[in-house]
Amino acid sequence: MIPYLPLNEINARYNPELQETINRVITKGIYLLGEETRLFEKEYAGYIGTRHCIGCGNGYDALWLIIRAYKELGIFSEGDEIIVPANTFIASVLAITQNGLKPIFADPDPQTAVIGCNEIEKAITPRCKAVMLVHLYGRNCYSEEIAMLCRQKGIKIIEDNAQAHGCLHNGKRTGSLGDAAAHSFYPGKNLGALGDGGAVTTDDSKLYETILTLHNYGSMEKYRHTLEGVNSRLDELQAAALRVKLRHLDADNSRRKEIARRYIAAIANNTVNLPVVKDFDGHVFHVFPVFTKQREALQAHLAAQGIQTLIHYPVPCHKQECYREAGTLVLPVAEELASTELSLPCHQAMNDNDVTRVIECMNSFR
Ligand SMILES: *Cc1c(COP(=O)(O)O)cnc(C)c1O
Repeated sequence: MIPYLPLNEINARYNPELQETINRVITKGIYLLGEETRLFEKEYAGYIGTRHCIGCGNGYDALWLIIRAYKELGIFSEGDEIIVPANTFIASVLAITQNGLKPIFADPDPQTAVIGCNEIEKAITPRCKAVMLVHLYGRNCYSEEIAMLCRQKGIKIIEDNAQAHGCLHNGKRTGSLGDAAAHSFYPGKNLGALGDGGAVTTDDSKLYETILTLHNYGSMEKYRHTLEGVNSRLDELQAAALRVKLRHLDADNSRRKEIARRYIAAIANNTVNLPVVKDFDGHVFHVFPVFTKQREALQAHLAAQGIQTLIHYPVPCHKQECYREAGTLVLPVAEELASTELSLPCHQAMNDNDVTRVIECMNSFR
C-alpha cells in the first residue's frame, strides 16, 4: 500500500524531538501566547524573510485577518474587489467574502495552473484593491511583471502561501514577496502542525500591529479592547511542534523535489500530461499533479496496485454552490483542470522503491 500522505509516518521522523518539546510545554504550564509562540514567530519571520510574523488559528484566519486589518486601516472597504484564481481551495475565497468584499474569479495559466499577469490585468476594475496570489501546489506565481502592474494600479498583493512554505523566487521566499502573506500549518501542508495553525507574515508595521490586536480579541492590553477583534491564536503546543519541524523543512522540500524530478524524468504515458517545471527553486511540490482525460480509469488503475491518489480540486470555486451568484461565469482553464487533475503521492517519508512503483504503474496505464 502506498498511501497518499501518511501523517503518522511523516511525523514519526521528528520523534523523539517532538515528544521532548511537547513534554516541555506541558510541564511548563503556559499553553497560549507564551515563549514557544514568540520564538516560532521570530524564527519563521527569519526563515521567510519578513520583519513580522503573527501566529494565528489557521490559514483561513490568516487570510481573513489580513483583509480585515486592511479594512481597519481604511485601505479596503466593503464592496471592494479582490482578484483570486478560481482553482484554489475555498478558504482563499471565503476570506474575501466573509469580509464583505467581492471575489473576482480569474482563470489560471493552462501551463502552470497558477494565475498569470495577463489574467490579472484583464480582471482589474476601479473597485479592485488587491490580488490574491495563490502559490498553488507549491508553485510560486509571483513575478516582477505582476508586481509592476499592481504598483501601477495601486493594488495590494496578498500571498496565499498555504501550499508553498520554503518556495523561492530569485533567492527570496514566497511569503515575503507581496504586501502580506497567509500561511497554513494544517497537518497535511509542507510545514504541518499536529492540529490547526496559521500565520501572517509582512514587512508592514501598521498591518502587523493591527493584526496583532485583532487576533487576540482586539486587545493589546488585558481587558482593554481597542478593536472589535476575534480569537485566533496559535497555541504553544503547535508552536513548539512547528519549531521542530521548521528545522527540517528545507530537507523535506528537497526530498519532495527529488521525487518530482524522478516522476518528470521517468513517467512517459501519452494519455497523461505532467507539470512543466522550468525552475525547481520555485516549486516545493505540496502536490504533484498530473492531468488526464481518463482520470477515473487512471485512479482505479493506481488504486488496484495499492497506490492512493487525490484530486485537487474537483469543483472550481466559481462552480461551488455557496458561490451560485457567480452564475454562468465560464472559466475554461479552471474547469478543465478540475476535471483532469490527479495528485500522485509525493512527500518526504516516501522511499525510492515506492517512487519506482508509482512510475511503473503510471507507465503501464493504457
Ligand atoms: C490549506 C489552505 C488554506 C486554508 O488553510 P487552513 O489552515 O486549513 O485554514 C488556504 N488556502 C490554500 C491554498 C490552502 O491550501
